[in-house]
Amino acid sequence: MQKPIIRVLLINAHSDQYVDMAKMLDAISVSDYEMTWCADYRHALEAMLAPIHDVILLDYEHAPHICEELLRSASAHGCTTPILCLTATVNPELDRAAIKAGAADYLVKDRLDVDIIERTIRYAIDRKNAETELARLAHYDALTGIPNRLLFNDRLDRALQRADRGDSPFALLYLDLDGFKAVNDAYGHDMGDKLVQGIAERLSQCIRRTDSVARIGGDEFTVLLEKTTSTNDTVTIAQKIIDVVTEPFNINGQQMRVGSSIGIAVYPEAGRDATTLIKHADMAMYEAKAMQGSNYRFFTAKMNSEAVDQNRLDLELRAAISNDELALFFQPRVSLRTGQIVGVEALLRWHHPERGILLPGEFIQAAKQLGLLEPIGYWVLNRLCLDIAKMDAMKIPPLRVSLNVAHEQFMAPNFVSTVESILSSMKISASRFEFELAESAVVANLDDIADDMVLLEKQGIRFALDGFGTGYSSLPQLQKLPITTLKLDKSYVQKVTVDKDSASVVRAMIYMAHGLELTVVGEGVETEGQKAFLVKNRCDHLQGFFYSQPLSFEDFTQLLNNEGTTARRTYLSIVDK
Ligand SMILES: [Mg+2]
Repeated sequence: MQKPIIRVLLINAHSDQYVDMAKMLDAISVSDYEMTWCADYRHALEAMLAPIHDVILLDYEHAPHICEELLRSASAHGCTTPILCLTATVNPELDRAAIKAGAADYLVKDRLDVDIIERTIRYAIDRKNAETELARLAHYDALTGIPNRLLFNDRLDRALQRADRGDSPFALLYLDLDGFKAVNDAYGHDMGDKLVQGIAERLSQCIRRTDSVARIGGDEFTVLLEKTTSTNDTVTIAQKIIDVVTEPFNINGQQMRVGSSIGIAVYPEAGRDATTLIKHADMAMYEAKAMQGSNYRFFTAKMNSEAVDQNRLDLELRAAISNDELALFFQPRVSLRTGQIVGVEALLRWHHPERGILLPGEFIQAAKQLGLLEPIGYWVLNRLCLDIAKMDAMKIPPLRVSLNVAHEQFMAPNFVSTVESILSSMKISASRFEFELAESAVVANLDDIADDMVLLEKQGIRFALDGFGTGYSSLPQLQKLPITTLKLDKSYVQKVTVDKDSASVVRAMIYMAHGLELTVVGEGVETEGQKAFLVKNRCDHLQGFFYSQPLSFEDFTQLLNNEGTTARRTYLSIVDK
């Protein structure tokens, strides 16, 4: 039989003692030993925390106070390797201090022999294994292997501490199965146990890495959702949990199905301490149970009504595409030198059957969570191809059309090939488009998106950086990307006449962008003063209510047909004033 290998870390400053210890370990016949030597106490903690050693021998003779500090730090960092202290003489006081600071045992160097050292190491490792197993049994549910009530309480306390420091709000979900008793009665407890195991497994798979799930009773579970910034996040996860729990199970050839009711308590609205939060989540769970079918309920009325609104919006948004309720509006981009329309940005709107025209800010977040960003994005591209073909048929001189491309869509696999296939099937040249990417998203993913941008640019698509000034990018960073245009964020543009800092930022951005041969567009221009500032500082284009609000396709083509006559005259007369 192969002998077990025990990996030992020796922390000791003297090479002769290292040699002695190596000889002694070598003489032990029952196990093989692999020793790592750390001679510098300054690097000792790092070595102790590396989870590769079975036991640590810490020479206490050299600077006991440093050793004691090391023991405490190791324990504070969650070091689970047993640590044996080596002392020069028998010194009960020193030994007690070492054990108190976290040492597993101690050895007197003068009295060491092969047997003593073998036995002490073996005992220390066995004791640590037993402790670890006990801790596991105490904190994990024996049936499902997921955390039990004890560990859940511990995690809830930690979440409360973090939230109290202002770090992160969180939500507590209390989940109870519907119809579990019937399963137990009909099929017996063994099958009931298997069902509970299956549910624990599905729950563990559907939560995020930062969340935690626990079994706290027969068919009761809790889920701790960390960093939930909106009711939407929580609703999405609660609905996902209901979906996975209510999926049928096949256990020993039997199809079975249970429902689930979830009560949700959000910190701090539903309570600031563990007892209150659990009580309120439990109360909300009973409310959910009183409703037909599987449901979730928040403890607070406000969140329940937000959740209802959210659900309604989700359903309506799914229908919006097929009901042809989405529309594009067109906002001209105008040259500050000639007053002519030099481009146009297509903007998404939703003709809501009851609420009228909705702006993207009112539904894009929901679209993102429903996974609808991609289909909506491709709908926009398809529709623009049709509109461009219509403009061509009307003999309107070609204009480059900008559209906002969501970062999630750009990063999706097949984005480049899907764009190519849409353009080729619609017979529209790529050179008719400019994709606007939000500066903040580009900066965060510079390396991931560069290749795709280059591929599309080769086809003829241009790129603009949207909302420039809000993403903290440095211009040299951006030189790697095939960008031709910067769109200055309206939050700066709209302050140039009232705030000196904004004025200097805009002036500097225009100057730097021109140095890199980029075209600069001022967004959200609303007043004569803002326009005059941009003209004076040689900004290239403007977009905003000052020239035109976003227009329907009909109004926009009408404006283009009049360009050079009415529209341009109006604009120039304003310039002349
Ligand atoms: Mg834009």
